[in-house]
Amino acid sequence: MADSSNQDFDVDETLRDVRRCLEDLLAFEGRYFIVPPASLALAPVDSDTPAAVVEADDGGSLESFQQQICDCLRCPLGQTRKNFVFGSGNPGADIMFVGEAPGEHEDRQGLPFVGPAGELLTKIIGAMKLSREEVYICNVLKCRPPNNRDPQLDEVASCEPYLQRQIELVRPRIICCLGRHAAHALLKTDSSLGRLRGRLHQYQGTPLVVTYHPAALLHNPSYKRDTWEDMKWLRKLHDGTEL
Ligand code: URA
Repeated sequence: MADSSNQDFDVDETLRDVRRCLEDLLAFEGRYFIVPPASLALAPVDSDTPAAVVEADDGGSLESFQQQICDCLRCPLGQTRKNFVFGSGNPGADIMFVGEAPGEHEDRQGLPFVGPAGELLTKIIGAMKLSREEVYICNVLKCRPPNNRDPQLDEVASCEPYLQRQIELVRPRIICCLGRHAAHALLKTDSSLGRLRGRLHQYQGTPLVVTYHPAALLHNPSYKRDTWEDMKWLRKLHDGTEL
């Protein structure tokens, strides 16, 4: 019980400390305790599914995993892509951003988020007092859908084990889904973005938050304010930094 005679006791400060501890614990658990062993995190293996592909030994490194899957032809997008867009950034990042699928610029350069939406994402990450080199950035689909159409369910199903394995290898402390396609793929929901934002979700034990896709901000700049609130919250959840 608090000692009411103690003039130095500050209830608000103590509550803030407790909150910080709980947030740290949550992030910490995401990294070390809840993430299941690799074998459990993969979808059930059937010799015809991509999950079977990621069963092959990648030596536990992101780079060898990329080498292993970069010639993928498991869905028709493999026939039309210029480049397989695996992901980029720090292979041991604490924060992982997951977008939808490569667009024209990404397909041409083989890197995620390098077009106009990517430039905006880079600015957002900078405003969070982080850099692209510190975080990890990837997409649900690794190949560009024709004319940037929405990913189809079968394409997501084919590519999903690749994203699962990337998450296992990077072991981020927190995942940020950029837009509803990433959120739907990882959270297995079809809820609206409005319902998904502002809530702390979990992906196999890793804390996960959802925000607008940067391309949506380009079309609708009024979403920028909410996105910034989401990013401030993400940064605070991650390491307590108040932006
Ligand atoms: N949009 C995405 O979802 N991903 C990219 O890499 C680029 C644009």
